[in-house]
Amino acid sequence: MRSNRRRLAALAALVTVFGCSSAASEPMVGAPGIGDPDFPKDGNGGYDVAHYDVAIDYTPAGKRLVGVTTIRAAATQDLSAFNLDLAGLNVHAITVDGASATFSRQGDELTVRPAGTIADDAVFSVKVSYSGVPKPIKDAGSLGTYGFMPTGDGAFVAAEPNGAKTWFPSNDHPADKATFDFTITVPAGVTALANGEMAGRPACSGGKTTYRWRERHPMVTYLATATLGKFELREGRTPGGIPNLAAADPRFKSSLDSLYKTSAEVTDHWATVFGPYPFGSTGGVIDDFAAGYALENQTKPLYGGFHPDESIIAHELAHQWFGNSLSIKLWKDLWLNEGFATYAEWLWAEHKGRKTAQATFDDYAKRPADDPMWAYPPGRARPHDLFSQSVYVRGAMTLHALRKAVGDQTFFALVRTWAADHRYGHVTTDQFIELAERMSGKELGALFDAWLFQPRKPS
Ligand SMILES: [Zn+2]
Repeated sequence: MRSNRRRLAALAALVTVFGCSSAASEPMVGAPGIGDPDFPKDGNGGYDVAHYDVAIDYTPAGKRLVGVTTIRAAATQDLSAFNLDLAGLNVHAITVDGASATFSRQGDELTVRPAGTIADDAVFSVKVSYSGVPKPIKDAGSLGTYGFMPTGDGAFVAAEPNGAKTWFPSNDHPADKATFDFTITVPAGVTALANGEMAGRPACSGGKTTYRWRERHPMVTYLATATLGKFELREGRTPGGIPNLAAADPRFKSSLDSLYKTSAEVTDHWATVFGPYPFGSTGGVIDDFAAGYALENQTKPLYGGFHPDESIIAHELAHQWFGNSLSIKLWKDLWLNEGFATYAEWLWAEHKGRKTAQATFDDYAKRPADDPMWAYPPGRARPHDLFSQSVYVRGAMTLHALRKAVGDQTFFALVRTWAADHRYGHVTTDQFIELAERMSGKELGALFDAWLFQPRKPS
């Protein structure tokens, strides 16, 4: 993600939720959270999702969504009940392996109780039928508005960090990745843009069009999108041969060509720097919704209401490697996404001969010791201020400091090895430090500690 305007650093009260659900005392009930202490209710325990089949019918005029989501998962314990995350919307029916299940709701937790216990390791399928008017999440702190956001002609869907639950039931935390199929029915004339590639031609019937998209590579829930509206499209391949799809709301038609060309050039260039492009297609979507930010939705970065420049395109496409192919297990490690994507902006300027990464680093290093960035250690992103500038800029400075310490050859080999070793998987800060020390043969504990974990300007 990258803000297109200066984010206001609002102080939000950190609300601590005490107490536990009555279900928690039963040993065969999956936990209501996946185990991220900063977001205790996000995701769920007791199972691991392999695949989501999200089928929605959306009517922009009434902002009404009718959905059927089928989830294929493997139990990681015996389960007499388990939770899904779902915000708002009315649940009509749930089946588990085809048999009716009972369910209850408390806040954004949907508890499903199958007819019989699901055994540990068993693969099961849960089908949820639901409908209603999706409501995006409006965070009083720095997270802003996110999730499924209605627009004049459709919807703008950008869900980081935990807004997938505003439009489909899910294990809504990056620690659980899965493949996705999307079946999206909209009124004729509306285009539906989801992740991955189109699976067959759109089908028209009764004044409606049904689009099918498939993301065959693992994806975290916050990157799932079904951005809907009137779009001009440009489709082809990058010079390097990667399928490329650019889409722009008619209001941003003048940026369609540059989005298409720049996305192609950036994708091909990053493949030479970070290693092979991890997904089946690249591109981007510009919608006329003034979100004030862009989000790196897998295969289809989404730009909210502005003409994206090269720098932000370089950022969002770098995320396809760092954040999307390699995903964090805990939100506190967000610098592994945003520090890398921000450093990619500096590398892009360097590549184009505009400004060296060293010069960008030096500009930030001039900030006085009492600048708020130095008080916020980026290696531990805070839940109420996840997208702090420190996570981005000081995260990028950490990588530049590392580059200076180990040399260009080792640094770029390290970045490629990092992307290759954890392709489609999960990463932690400790793993990165360990790899950096192993590949450089240097003791780097002090460097990482000063840059990532100390609440002061590194000397
Ligand atoms: Zn970002």
